[in-house]
Amino acid sequence: MDSKIKVPFNDLYLQHQSLQPHLSSAIDRVIKESKFVRGPDVEFFEEAFADINDSKFCVSCANGTDSLYIAMMALGVGVGDEVIVPAMSWISTSETVSQTGAKVVFCDIDPKTYVIDIEDLKRKITSRSVGIIPVHLYGHPADMPSVMKVADSRKLWVIEDCAQAHLAEVQGKKVGTFGVAGSFSFYPGKNLGAMGDAGALITNDATLSKRMSMFARHGGLIKGDHQIEGINSRLDGIQAAILNLKLNKLSSWTQRRRDIARHYLDGLAGEPLMLPVVAQYATPAWHLFVVRTAHRDRLRAYLREKGVQTVINYPRALPFLPCYNSLAAKESDFPNSYELSQTCLSLPIFPEITDRQVDYCIDQVKRFFSSVE
Ligand SMILES: *Cc1c(COP(=O)(O)O)cnc(C)c1O
Repeated sequence: MDSKIKVPFNDLYLQHQSLQPHLSSAIDRVIKESKFVRGPDVEFFEEAFADINDSKFCVSCANGTDSLYIAMMALGVGVGDEVIVPAMSWISTSETVSQTGAKVVFCDIDPKTYVIDIEDLKRKITSRSVGIIPVHLYGHPADMPSVMKVADSRKLWVIEDCAQAHLAEVQGKKVGTFGVAGSFSFYPGKNLGAMGDAGALITNDATLSKRMSMFARHGGLIKGDHQIEGINSRLDGIQAAILNLKLNKLSSWTQRRRDIARHYLDGLAGEPLMLPVVAQYATPAWHLFVVRTAHRDRLRAYLREKGVQTVINYPRALPFLPCYNSLAAKESDFPNSYELSQTCLSLPIFPEITDRQVDYCIDQVKRFFSSVE
């Protein structure tokens, strides 16, 4: 690591170092069993992940992008359909809609919590709408009671994009259990990460669970028996063994993230920047700790100079990405998403960060603001 860095944005090496030698023996065991794609570790993980999420079924797959696509394909989404997604997310949420043949319809975000805005959601529904994909952005849950009310009244399905929100809750209920399915990513930097790509869906619907499993496994659960055409998107034995080990830590890692967020919120209270707002209904998973300031780029440069790594999540809202040029979206169409993209800055938050490092970050942010004013 660059010796100038005092606080990295994340440190995956530390996480894995703390799990050695358990990781090595888990990998050795998979090599001995030689069940490399699916197998007993995958089945164990699916059961355990359904369990920790208070959900009946879990369908694992190759990543948290495929999981969105698999869920939509299993629901029969296709040409002529419209699916509503928030304008501020990672590209997976919208690109998978297009992959099904359906049309992506973007919706603005709430200016305080940055999740799908309910009033704009209602405005975006047409006779062609079939579903909504709320995103629990940065780990803060979407307003699921309101999303479900809108969806139910218009007979739309809801797939929750939980890629940033493992174990987040809405009024004590786990995210991913409000809609027909919850989609998760285990990309290494996520709150629960594999040592490579991995993903999963949770659902309480037995029929949907079966359809999703089939679609992810070439359209059939028994080798050679293809009920439908599907895709190849499976979890492998080594990743599942690693995820099973890490799953035991997920609750304590999430608690640590909550403590760090509290530490930041207390330490930065009263500073001239917008701190994350937690809705009454929400218990966030704090995948990211995102502040907002008009001096974002200068603050970022200042922190870099002081050895604090930060990230911009995301520098452009989805409708303004080159791949959506044909939509000719205007800033005024998605004012809250645009504003967030121009002012947001993610400060380091990960379970292994020390309290001293958090104090250092807080101190440097304060120094920056005392110098600009
Ligand atoms: C990471 C992420 C995904 C995609 O996950 P991958 O496993 O990288 O494919 C989807 N949606 C959101 C909101 C994400 O942050």
